[in-house]
Amino acid sequence: MSNKKIIIAIDGFSSTGKSTIAKQLAKHLNYIYVDTGAMYRAVTLYAMQHNYINNNSFDKQKLIDNINSIQLNFKFNPEQGFAEMYLNGENVEKEIRTIEVSKLVSKVSAISEVRKKLVFEQQEMGKDKGIVMDGRDIGTVVFPEAELKLFMTASADKRAKRRYKELIDRGDKVNYEEILQNVQERDHIDSTRKDSPLTKANDAIEFDNSDMGLQEQFERITSLVNDRL
Ligand code: C5P
Repeated sequence: MSNKKIIIAIDGFSSTGKSTIAKQLAKHLNYIYVDTGAMYRAVTLYAMQHNYINNNSFDKQKLIDNINSIQLNFKFNPEQGFAEMYLNGENVEKEIRTIEVSKLVSKVSAISEVRKKLVFEQQEMGKDKGIVMDGRDIGTVVFPEAELKLFMTASADKRAKRRYKELIDRGDKVNYEEILQNVQERDHIDSTRKDSPLTKANDAIEFDNSDMGLQEQFERITSLVNDRL
């Protein structure tokens, strides 16, 4: 393999297996993996902890006024084999994955001031390339010049089943209907927001993995990577 390093941008709808393929690729290439959804989730957790947002109300201005008090860091956990999310010095990896955070995150991520801060931090992380980043606007806004852009899709039902299994395996109490509704609601808000809506970049390669096995997907994507190296 050559020493050339590239940026791999992976976007797509909720629970399309973006992070699974991104982690696999990063490990294979010895690249950094950045889960940008974790950053939006951590900002949402902060807003919940400070009572700026709940299921009924959202004081956007308070969040905007305090945005500089939010410090986000990724720290590599060798046992897990990936970096975990820290919010103001505290490991929040588990808290940010709850259904409560999932229900509010799309409202928080629609705020331009939030996006501006996180996009800047993401661009800094990718300065030296050698990075696999997943999210909703990586190929369109964060790294429009990325050498490889993937856009992942799968049926809503398949995606909700995956997310349901993940949460049940962790021991969370959730029902399938609630998850399906959340996945559809987030897709709708994420795709219709004014600032950086989720959309496929013109030069992104689309993968519908509803019926594609992980191994087949990985092989097809690594061959695309090799073409660019
Ligand atoms: O990837 P994940 O499902 O954890 O993302 C959670 C939410 O964060 C998304 O539904 C979306 O609202 C927001 N997000 C975003 N831009 C990104 C990554 C995530 O708006 N680049």
